[in-house]
Amino acid sequence: QATVNKIAAGEVVERPASLVKELVENSIDAGADSVRIEIIASKNEITSIRITDDGCGMVPEDALLAFTPHATSKITEIRDLDTIRTLGFRGEALASIAAVARVTLITRPRDDELAAGTRIVIAGGEILENSAIGAPGGTTVLVEDLFYNTPARKKFQKSRATELAHIIGMLEGIILAHPTIAFRLTYNGTEQVVTGRNATRLDTIARIYGAATARDLVPVSTTAPLVAIAGHISRPSLSRKDRDRIILSINGRYVSSPAITNAIKEGYGTLLPKDRFPVAFLSLDIDTALVDVNVHPTKKLVRISREPEIAGAVRDAIKKTLAGHDL
Ligand code: ADP
Ligand code: MG
Repeated sequence: QATVNKIAAGEVVERPASLVKELVENSIDAGADSVRIEIIASKNEITSIRITDDGCGMVPEDALLAFTPHATSKITEIRDLDTIRTLGFRGEALASIAAVARVTLITRPRDDELAAGTRIVIAGGEILENSAIGAPGGTTVLVEDLFYNTPARKKFQKSRATELAHIIGMLEGIILAHPTIAFRLTYNGTEQVVTGRNATRLDTIARIYGAATARDLVPVSTTAPLVAIAGHISRPSLSRKDRDRIILSINGRYVSSPAITNAIKEGYGTLLPKDRFPVAFLSLDIDTALVDVNVHPTKKLVRISREPEIAGAVRDAIKKTLAGHDL
């Protein structure tokens, strides 16, 4: 079992950013209003990651269960995957992380004043501590000594600057999919990304990418038969050499989709030079039965049924939006 978990860890926890992603997604699934991410790095590498949320929290039994491989509170049957709305469903992340690191979990149910808090410490899959403790409602997960017990350790981190850039990029994608949640990322105590609660998507874009970028955007809002599209796209003048600033979410999940990215570019047609990409922040709402999220352990890629029609709808929405604006 220990070996199996270590292998699973390699898939779920490719690098520090994927670990942060799993933990932040758990906080979002727990209904958090605010999520704090604290990264501590030594001279050479990231040494600890702490995520604190004010989500639903866990009762003592569930806290222990959370580390059991394939234990998830989010689906009970395979066919639930067709209607999945939560970001997690594999029940793999916490077990995998605890197999290759030292994890301290502190949690207490948010909506039950009388419920006890729990502190669990696990290292290399072994429970070192499980005790009652006073704690605020919500959950804190502290991860230390990453990959201390596997040869994967060296592969796991490039320079700490590279890893921080990945964490920030990933977090920005998640934040834009959930602009109403307050996020705060610090790196060795210094604030890197901070967003407010109940912000609009445009506020959040301005906060992250600057007011100048936000000013050059036009809103998109369309409902087509298979997809509802909402968000903001840039005037052609804001075009870029890379596609990194096309940020997509599908049903609240930050994803990358080459087909949709292409459709956005097609929507601009000749308004953009051939080798340029627009800036776009789009949220797509698609019937969950048409989106297969169980394609890859990291869940960044999804398989979309009727993708050509959905991509076509996105292209048309972009075209129509641009035609309606004096550019
Ligand atoms: P999954 O998210 O796929 O269910 P995880 O291993 O990420 O699997 O988490 C296991 C379980 O632990 C979740 O189903 C959830 O019940 C619980 N859990 C994890 N993180 C949190 C959190 N921040 N707040 C409340 N419950 C959590
Ligand atoms: Mg999860």
